[in-house]
Amino acid sequence: MMFSYMTHLSCSKCSRTYNPDTVQQLCECGSPLLVNYDLKKLAKDFKPNELLIRNHDLWRYHELLPVQSPENIVSLGEGMTPLITMKKLGSDMDIAHLYMKDEGIAPTGTFKARGAAVGVSKAKELGVKGLVMPTNGNAGAAWSLYSSKAGIQAVIIMPGSAPAMIRSEVASAGSHLYLVNGVISDAGKIAAKAAADFHLYDVSTLKEPYRIEGKKTMGFEIAEQLHWETPDVILYPAGGGVGLIAIYKAFKELQELGWVGSKKMPRFVAVQAEGCAPIVKAWKEGKRESEFWPDSRTVAFGINVPKALGDFLVLQAIYETNGCALAVKDEDILKEQKNIIRKEGAFICPEGAAAFLAARKLRKIGWIKENERVIVINTGIGLKYMDNEEINLPVLQPDESIDSLPVLP
Ligand SMILES: *Cc1c(COP(=O)(O)O)cnc(C)c1O
Ligand SMILES: [Zn+2]
Repeated sequence: MMFSYMTHLSCSKCSRTYNPDTVQQLCECGSPLLVNYDLKKLAKDFKPNELLIRNHDLWRYHELLPVQSPENIVSLGEGMTPLITMKKLGSDMDIAHLYMKDEGIAPTGTFKARGAAVGVSKAKELGVKGLVMPTNGNAGAAWSLYSSKAGIQAVIIMPGSAPAMIRSEVASAGSHLYLVNGVISDAGKIAAKAAADFHLYDVSTLKEPYRIEGKKTMGFEIAEQLHWETPDVILYPAGGGVGLIAIYKAFKELQELGWVGSKKMPRFVAVQAEGCAPIVKAWKEGKRESEFWPDSRTVAFGINVPKALGDFLVLQAIYETNGCALAVKDEDILKEQKNIIRKEGAFICPEGAAAFLAARKLRKIGWIKENERVIVINTGIGLKYMDNEEINLPVLQPDESIDSLPVLP
């Protein structure tokens, strides 16, 4: 048995292939590279019930990950987050089988830990000493912390509007943090130049092939947690859309391995905010690629991506699974977030709330059918967003007592 069954990298658009033993960025044609595995051999060598005795982290799927030697693994215990039944919310939405894949309890507080764990581990294996990343915040925080652990120098560039909490997270990790007076695409341009000027590994979304492999493990876990049954619908708050592309890739690999049935794919739903919805617009117009979204803004800063390099892969996953794309309003997102926190005790982030809200809307118009099994990805923890919230609380003096409590329902 090999530790990894990776064979080669291939272009997502043209027919070129690349060697995974050296640092690779984009294909010569400018498109992202994807990782390939010898799935036929793995199907013969390994059965999914052998997973049962493995650790509860994402490295339990190491045959389907690109790290070739276990000593290069940089781990903070990422993966195997719970798949939680949302009974009260489900009955409120008339979705009997509603689940939340809760990434809020991941190390660094978001699912970005998955991409960072696998991306940084692979960078270490390839001998990378320094990397540069443009980010809206959460990815930068995750890559900073994993880079610290790996002993890799990280240069992080983020919009100045990123929450203070995330800026201090990155700075605490000892990364070189720069703020840009602009959006993530502006940060991307600065990162590309810094990569060339200082020989840094450019780990912008999809400019390195491995973060998608880390995010893919969300799909493996969902399948394993459902005892290798395929759910009907997966809703995902899409910025760059990497998580959606990755979960789709996971289910395709599982089908090829024969670990899940070969006929059914989940229908993928890309959820965006109305203030930044390039994928939704492209989907509505039946297009294969999106256009740059000017003046993008949303409280859900993790999905504030005006133009994604992998937009065509997101749209492909939607079209091929009879999925859809939906935009929701910021104020409705915040209302739904509050509703979910109060009903289910789940302190989810606005991005996750957007995806739940989309489920509610899609059930209402009958797109989600009664009794379908619906998975919503909550991508992060709500605590990271607290600078959005103004809360007025009563303050007591030490000698005061509580006069009355509001009547409990
Ligand atoms: C990055 C991020 C997203 C979007 O992820 P992509 O896979 O790049 O689309 C969603 N939610 C949160 C909290 C994020 O940090
Ligand atoms: Zn190519």
